[in-house]
Amino acid sequence: MLTLDDVSVAYDGVPAVVDASLRLEDGHVLAVLGPSGSGKSTLLRAIAGLEPVASGRISWDGSDLDGVPTHKRGFALMFQDGQLFGHLTVARNVGYALRLRRTPNAAARVRELLALVGLEGYGDRLPATLSGGERQRVALARSLAVQPRLLLLDEPLSALDAGLRERLANDLRDILREAGTTALMVTHDQEEAFTVADRLAVMRGGRIVQQGDIAAVWRAPADAATALFLGYAR
Ligand code: ATP
Ligand code: MG
Repeated sequence: MLTLDDVSVAYDGVPAVVDASLRLEDGHVLAVLGPSGSGKSTLLRAIAGLEPVASGRISWDGSDLDGVPTHKRGFALMFQDGQLFGHLTVARNVGYALRLRRTPNAAARVRELLALVGLEGYGDRLPATLSGGERQRVALARSLAVQPRLLLLDEPLSALDAGLRERLANDLRDILREAGTTALMVTHDQEEAFTVADRLAVMRGGRIVQQGDIAAVWRAPADAATALFLGYAR
């Protein structure tokens, strides 16, 4: 379980995340939803160990992650632009970490992952020959290859056009469910949050203003601004 207790993050003394407290139980998918500049990416980067925490505590199963470097946290990260290795085939991209770890049966595992994301037979293609959606599927397969205890997604679908985004949001939900992955996804798109996640945290001005089961938040927004942002009266 991921726990944040009163976490604050600042850039040159300017607060970007203020007193954020959060719980994410294993097997759940949490969407962090909020407008541009509300501190979502900063929160995710702090969880990943990419930004120092000014105060508060981030822990996994009760042990403090302070001082634990990014690559030792057991988390995987995926961004808006999946950042594939352009000179490597799809299979090599997906199997990259497996080969580094000399995982046995890596080739079979790569085929399994490609099937999971709906890209059977794409193993020999190069990233440049793929559509944006296909590239994000490869990036997702690569993130899942190492069986991270937590997958951190920062606007994974926002570079895609609207129709594709909707389709991929549905697939993303199914893939995470099937793999049993615990995930935290940052987005400014409420439909995407509602499609993919079962838990929701709403951010505004660096603060988490509400969190809980997604249906519960939808039924009872904490305040008028949250209601508006969730799509009420629009
Ligand atoms: P978006 O939806 O646009 O991605 P966000 O919710 O992810 O926004 P953040 O990127 O976390 O927001 O930014 C939160 C605040 O921190 C903003 O005011 C931003 O200007 C500031 N900020 C972010 N990164 C840096 C940085 N590297 N240096 C200084 N300030 C930063
Ligand atoms: Mg962001």
